[in-house]
Amino acid sequence: MDEIFDLVIIGSGPAGVSTALTARHRGKSALIVSTAPEDSPLCRAEHVDNYPGFHNATGRELVDAFVKHAEASGVKFARGRALAVADMGGVFGVSVGADFVQGRSVVLACGLNRAKPFPGESEFLGRGVSYCATCDGMLYRGKPVAVIGQSADAPEEAEYLRGIGCIVEYFDSQRAKKYEIKGEERVTTLTADGADYAVDCVFVLRSGLSPDSLLPGLETIGAHISVDAEMATNLPGVFAAGDCIGGPYQVAKAAGDGNVAGLSACKYVENLSKQTGGKQ
Ligand SMILES: Cc1cc2nc3c(=O)[nH]c(=O)nc-3n(C[C@H](O)[C@H](O)[C@H](O)COP(=O)(O)OP(=O)(O)OC[C@H]3O[C@@H](n4cnc5c(N)ncnc54)[C@H](O)[C@@H]3O)c2cc1C
Repeated sequence: MDEIFDLVIIGSGPAGVSTALTARHRGKSALIVSTAPEDSPLCRAEHVDNYPGFHNATGRELVDAFVKHAEASGVKFARGRALAVADMGGVFGVSVGADFVQGRSVVLACGLNRAKPFPGESEFLGRGVSYCATCDGMLYRGKPVAVIGQSADAPEEAEYLRGIGCIVEYFDSQRAKKYEIKGEERVTTLTADGADYAVDCVFVLRSGLSPDSLLPGLETIGAHISVDAEMATNLPGVFAAGDCIGGPYQVAKAAGDGNVAGLSACKYVENLSKQTGGKQ
């Protein structure tokens, strides 16, 4: 995608969609980068009866309505996992699987990341631990790999790896609960519930990453991103909204945060344009 968007928003839950709608109403372009809509925890809610206008809706109905509204308002979507955000001096680059998108500002609306890395995961990242089948799969053709599938697209990604010739051991939440990734220079073994599997790579496919691993230097307090009242983080041009900044973990609060973050990001982009005489 060559276009530089005014806002790149990570997450298509209520906070991300509300941010994007606010941006569109202020005449700004907005791209939402997100894994499948069903990865939003909201899809697991059987009934949501505290969000105005949606009496007795299921979480899935709300998510579908939000995404439909965004699409109708001209919000663009890039489906995939955001793996890294880099400040390139006035423009942010975001890696989405093997693709790359650009924005003048970034809004993190990635929900609460409850997952702790598995033992060995951070240590071997880039040396036999990967978060992206498309990016790294080709390196392991003909080799044994494990996929720990914790996102909606994980079975499809495992099929992709099989299709290009990887020998795949697939682990869903039924097959094992406890993992450890081991090796020396590189990964050699995945231990799953006490059983050892000799593998050259472990693909850990979660719906999200911890925000500070996405964006080095981002200030967090525990599991939450630190923001001020304008939803600005410590990094200029980077804003955050929704469950990822703290509770109450509710749809109405996430949507409200998204509104504030959207307005702040629009203001930031307008100031940037004034400073550069509209050349950004
Ligand atoms: C079972 C259950 C029932 C609930 N019931 C209610 C209720 O009745 N009422 C209520 O108000 N709230 C309820 N909630 C809470 C509500 O779901 C959340 O507060 C709300 O969804 C938070 O919105 P959000 O936009 O901040 O994040 P989320 O909805 O979590 O959306 C974040 C999205 O970003 C994606 N993402 C994260 N990282 C990345 C990345 N690196 N790259 C790409 N995509 C990424 C995630 O996959 C997800 O789709 C419930 C939650 C659960 C789990």
